[in-house]
Amino acid sequence: DATQRYALVTGANKGTGFEICRQLASKGVVVVLAARDEKRVIEAREKLKELDNVVFHQLDVVDPASVAAVFEFIKSKFGRLDILVNNAGIRGVEVDGDVSVLQEYIEADNVSFLAGGQAEPFHVKASGKLIETLKGVDECVETNYYGAKRVTEALIPLLQLSHSPRIVNVSSTLGCLVLQPNEWVKRVLSSKGRLTEERVDEVVQQFLNNFCCDKIGNFKEGKLEEKQWPPHLAAYKVLKAALNAYTWLAAQKYPNICINAVCPGFARTDITFNAGPLSEVEAVEAPVKMALLPYGGPSGSFLHRSDALSL
Ligand code: NDP
Repeated sequence: DATQRYALVTGANKGTGFEICRQLASKGVVVVLAARDEKRVIEAREKLKELDNVVFHQLDVVDPASVAAVFEFIKSKFGRLDILVNNAGIRGVEVDGDVSVLQEYIEADNVSFLAGGQAEPFHVKASGKLIETLKGVDECVETNYYGAKRVTEALIPLLQLSHSPRIVNVSSTLGCLVLQPNEWVKRVLSSKGRLTEERVDEVVQQFLNNFCCDKIGNFKEGKLEEKQWPPHLAAYKVLKAALNAYTWLAAQKYPNICINAVCPGFARTDITFNAGPLSEVEAVEAPVKMALLPYGGPSGSFLHRSDALSL
C-alpha cells in the first residue's frame, strides 16, 4: 500500500519510545515497537493491545545480529521503511545513594537552558552521586552513538525504497557544543566543511582513551576534567554531541532522506529519575512532529523541542 507509512522506533518498551509508538500508531502509521528485552516487549504489547497497527520486535541496538534480524523482519513484512526513530539511549552513569541526584548537574548546567526555556525551577533532593564507570561509559558509546549509527546504516536500503523517508534521532540539549569545555572537540564537531565520520569517531575514541587512563583500564579520578571533558554526565554529553554531528553527516550522505536530531525536552522518564518538567506525552510532541513532517523541511539539523514545534 503506497499511502501507508511504516515506522520503526528503537528502545520503545517504555519512556518516550513507547509514547512515540502510541502517538504514531494513533495517527495511522504502522509501527514496529522494538525493544532489547523480549519480556519487556511482551509487557509493552499488553499495554497497546487495542492498537492493531503496532507490531513488536526484539532489537538490541548494540547487537549487529539483532539489527540484521529487524531488517529482515521489516523487509519481509512491509518491503520498505518510511520512518526510523533512533530513540534508544542510556545515561551512562551508575547511581550511588539516593537516585534524586539530578540537582548536582542541573545546577551546574543551568536548568532553564536544559529545558529549552520552559523550565520552572524544580527541586530534587541530592544525597547520592552519579558515577561514571568504564562499563557505563562503554555502554553509552555503544548505545547512544554507535547504536544509532548501526541501526541507521542497516536500514538505509529499506528507507531508500520510501518516497518520503525520515530519520529522527532522539538527542539532547545536553549534546550542545556549548556544554563541551574542550575547544578541540568544539572545533572538530562544529566545522561542518571538514567533518567526516572518522573525525567524529576520533573524538569518541579520544574521550574513551582519556577515560581509561590507568594501566588496567579503570577510570582515574580527575583525568576527564584535566583533559577538559564535561564535569558531569561526560559520556552522555559527548555521545549526544557525536550523534548530532553524525546526523549532519548522514544527511549529506543520503540527501533524499530527511534526517534530523531533536531534543524532546526535559521529561519525567527513567533516564531522568522521573524529575523533568514535561510528561512523556508532552516530550514526544517534537519527535513525533519531526517524524510526520511532509517531505522536505530541514535535514541534518539538531532541533530543540521549541524549534521543532515552531516548524
Ligand atoms: P528511558 O530510560 O525511559 O528509556 C530508554 C529506552 O532505551 C528504554 O526502552 C531502554 O530499554 C532503551 N535501550 C537502552 N539500551 C538499549 C539497547 N542497547 N537497545 C535497545 N534499546 C535500548 O528514557 P527516555 O524515554 O527518556 O529516553 C529515550 C531517549 O530520549 C534517549 O535517547 C534519551 O537520551 C533521550 N532524551 C530524554 C530526555 C528526557 O528528559 N527524558 C531528554 C533528552 C533526551 P530497557 O528498558 O531495556 O533499558
